[in-house]
Amino acid sequence: MVTVVARAPGRVNLIGEHTDYNGGLCLPFAIRLATTARVTVRPDDALRIASREADDRDPHWREYVVGVVEELRRLGWEVPGLDIELTSTVPLGGGLSSSAALECAVATAIAGLLGVPLDDAARRTLAAACRRAETDHVGAPTGGMDQLASMLGADGHALLLDFADPAAPATTPVPLPVTEDGLALLVTDTRVRHALAAGDGGYAQRRRECDAGDPRRLRHVQTENDRVRAAIAAITARDWPGLGALMTASHASLRDDYEVSVPQLDVAAGTAIGAGALGSRMTGGGFGGCTITLLRAERVAAVRAAVDAAYRDRGWTAPVHHLVEPGPGAQVLSAAG
Ligand code: ADP
Ligand code: MG
Repeated sequence: MVTVVARAPGRVNLIGEHTDYNGGLCLPFAIRLATTARVTVRPDDALRIASREADDRDPHWREYVVGVVEELRRLGWEVPGLDIELTSTVPLGGGLSSSAALECAVATAIAGLLGVPLDDAARRTLAAACRRAETDHVGAPTGGMDQLASMLGADGHALLLDFADPAAPATTPVPLPVTEDGLALLVTDTRVRHALAAGDGGYAQRRRECDAGDPRRLRHVQTENDRVRAAIAAITARDWPGLGALMTASHASLRDDYEVSVPQLDVAAGTAIGAGALGSRMTGGGFGGCTITLLRAERVAAVRAAVDAAYRDRGWTAPVHHLVEPGPGAQVLSAAG
C-alpha cells in the first residue's frame, strides 16, 4: 500500500481583481492556511473521497477532486484507484481559495505518488489541470490566478501574474518584506458566503459583460491593471502608504465600476482605514468573502476592534480575522509504502 501526503495553500490577492480572465495583471500570494491531501492506492479502480471539512449539504464538493483526477488522466497520467482523505485550515467559500487548495493538494499528492518531479513546468501543468477541473467539471468560471498562486507561491514573496497570453501566463516572484518593515496584512472574513460554482450568476455575468465590451466594467479592468503596475513600483520602493492607497482605490473601483462589493465588505474596508490602516480592499471575486488590509503591526488590535464594533452596531455576524503572510506553494510532505 502506497500513501502520499501533500499540502497546498490557499491564497489572498493583494491587488489586481477580476483581471485574470481579462488578460490582465494580478498580485496574489500563497498563505500559510492550507489543505492537506492523504492519498492511498487502492487495489481496485474506485475513488473514495472523504473530507473532514466537507458540508453534507454541498452536493458537488467531490467534483473538484474527481475533476482533478480526470484531468490528470487526460494528460496521460496513469492514476490508479485511490482513497483520498482531506483536511483543511482554509475557510471553505471564504474567498481564500479553499477550492484551489483542495485541487492542488490532490494533484500534488498524485504527482508524488507517480514520482513526477515538481519542477516549475510540472507546477504550471498541474495549475492548468486544476483550473480545468474547476471550470469544466465543477462549472465555476475562475480565471487561473488561484491555482497558479497555490502551485507557484514562494515564502516571503507575492507572485505577479500576467495573463496577456492566457494559455501561458507569465509569473514573476516579487519580494514582499512587510513583516520586516513593521507591517501586517490582515484578512477579515465577512462571513458572507459567495458561491462561485454553477448556478451563482454574479461572477459569470461580469465575465459576459467584459466579453461584450461594457465600458464601465472595462474601465475597472484597465485602471486595476495600472494599479498593479503602480503597486509593484510601491513595493519595490517600500512605499507602504503608497501601496495602501492603491489598495483602497482598487476597492472603490470594484465597488463603483465593477459592482461586486457588498455592504459588509465596504464597512470592513472603510472602518479599517478609519482606524488607521494604510489601505484596505475586498479580495477575491466579491459578493462576500474577505477584505485584505495593510497596516502597521501595532495597529492590528485597534483595527480588529473597530471592525468588530462596526459589525456589532449593525447586528451583523461577527467577522473572523486572519493575519496572513506569504508562504510556500504546494509540496509533498511525506511518501510511504
Ligand atoms: P473559496 O475557493 O474562496 O473557498 P469557492 O466557492 O471557490 O470558495 O470554493 C468553495 C467550495 O470548494 C466548497 O463549497 C466545497 O465545495 C469545496 N471545498 C473546498 N475545500 C474543501 C474541503 N477541504 N473539503 C470539501 N470541500 C471543499
Ligand atoms: Mg475558489
